[in-house]
Amino acid sequence: MDERGSQATFPPASGLWSELSYLVSKKQRALEKHADLQLYKSEQFKAASMQIPDAIVSLDQDNYIEWFNLPSQSMLGLRRQDRGRKVEGIIRQPEFIEYLKLTDYQDALILNSLQGKQRTFELKIISYFESHKLLVVRDITELYQLAQIRRDFIANASHELRTPLTVLKGYLELMQDMPGEQQLLWKTPLEHMENQSNRMQSIIEDLLILSSMESDSITAEASIVDVPEILQNISIEARQLGSDAHHIIFEITPNLKLQGHTEPLKSVFMNLVANAVRYSPEGGNITIRWYLDKEGAHYEVKDQGLGIAAEHIPRLTERFYRVDKDRSRVTGGTGLGLSIVKHALEQHGATLNVESVVGKGSFFRCDFPLDIVVQ
Ligand code: ADP
Repeated sequence: MDERGSQATFPPASGLWSELSYLVSKKQRALEKHADLQLYKSEQFKAASMQIPDAIVSLDQDNYIEWFNLPSQSMLGLRRQDRGRKVEGIIRQPEFIEYLKLTDYQDALILNSLQGKQRTFELKIISYFESHKLLVVRDITELYQLAQIRRDFIANASHELRTPLTVLKGYLELMQDMPGEQQLLWKTPLEHMENQSNRMQSIIEDLLILSSMESDSITAEASIVDVPEILQNISIEARQLGSDAHHIIFEITPNLKLQGHTEPLKSVFMNLVANAVRYSPEGGNITIRWYLDKEGAHYEVKDQGLGIAAEHIPRLTERFYRVDKDRSRVTGGTGLGLSIVKHALEQHGATLNVESVVGKGSFFRCDFPLDIVVQ
């Protein structure tokens, strides 16, 4: 090769070419460094995930297994050769296959057995990078058993308290029919005792509702719930709640039903109306609406009552949380109503929204997703 030829093929080591070649090689070195760093980070991530006690399986957009950590081998029975296989071909449980088909993985899937192991597992899918998924499986057997013991204890204790209370209430009623002077003397104490025993009965009933909702939520079959019919009955009951003093307006879309569980939903609708009546002075308007829009079905209860200060709103659904303890007692509240509401809504994939201004009134709205609406 002559000098000219060589010059034509390789740029001179000075001037524009040299500058360009310097920049290109610098960029290339930076890219290599970046690629090394990316590789290092991904290796580091994989190494960390190996130490996590939960099974972690990475799936591509078509659910082919890309990689998995060590606990996946013992928990799910995965082996090296399962890489590149579809996860549905390995975990074949129908509930899992259905779960995998979802587009929104907000809720976890609880299974009472998995790959032949009779334990309780929580499965959760986390979407990441262009439809890739991470399947995370936790063994929650101990946690689940503890929660079950707590649920059983509350249910049994409430149930056991029912009978002695019924006996006490019976005697109280008898004593109210005492003859002559005795009746005058005992009138006020007996009325107090009756009020308190009624309160105790309401608390027991609410605790039983809560614990039955907790244990049924995993097993109960959904059915069609005729919401307009329930609201029609509530409009009658609301009047019997001593709410003649309030102006209650019902705006109900006919034939708008839900796929769900009747008793918990009845509790939701009734509790919100009872609260609006309980915490509104006489003469106030209470508006109840049941309607559909493109987001889903909505149940709204709006009152012109006492209102709730902003700092209390996030805590309203806690068990026995009351903004004003004395008022709640006087009005017969158990402090469990909104926990029941929250629980029942969760069971239906629905959410509760609360807006309130002290002295002006409160607005409670339950948002039900479109996929459980029946028309
Ligand atoms: P309670 O049985 O005491 O009414 P809830 O769980 O139903 O218990 O409600 C919790 C607390 O939230 C109540 O004690 C009350 O202070 C407040 N609250 C609920 N609904 C309303 C409302 N519509 N207006 C004002 N305060 C309310």
